[in-house]
Amino acid sequence: MPEKESKNLKDGVAVTADVVLTNYSVCEGLEKEIRTKNNLTIKEVSGRGKKGDVKIDIVVSYCKGCEICVAFCPEKVLAMEREIAKVVDISKCTNCNICEYLCPDFSITVESL
Ligand code: SF4
Ligand code: SF4
Repeated sequence: MPEKESKNLKDGVAVTADVVLTNYSVCEGLEKEIRTKNNLTIKEVSGRGKKGDVKIDIVVSYCKGCEICVAFCPEKVLAMEREIAKVVDISKCTNCNICEYLCPDFSITVESL
């Protein structure tokens, strides 16, 4: 999907700014909060999913809280917190990318590691 790729958060958004590392005990993964040069905040969670290691990025600044990703994730990996999507259990993720394809605001990306 070229249009989606062209708006991928990694395009032109170097993630070299402040990075805050925190343990993420809920899903036994690792959560990073990243602030980009463009002043975007990205919540990145990586860990072992059902089909191998996976990383889920949610651009907090883009998320409008529509809940589509939460509603359609077949594994209940995602939930809403204060009207922003968040990863609650990465161990169930199957890397199906449904959330990424359905997000209308290009806020969420899923990558196999
Ligand atoms: S589908 Fe996208 S915009 Fe909607 S809640 Fe999920 S991440 Fe946010
Ligand atoms: S890739 Fe699939 S299983 Fe993983 S969070 Fe997105 S919709 Fe859920």
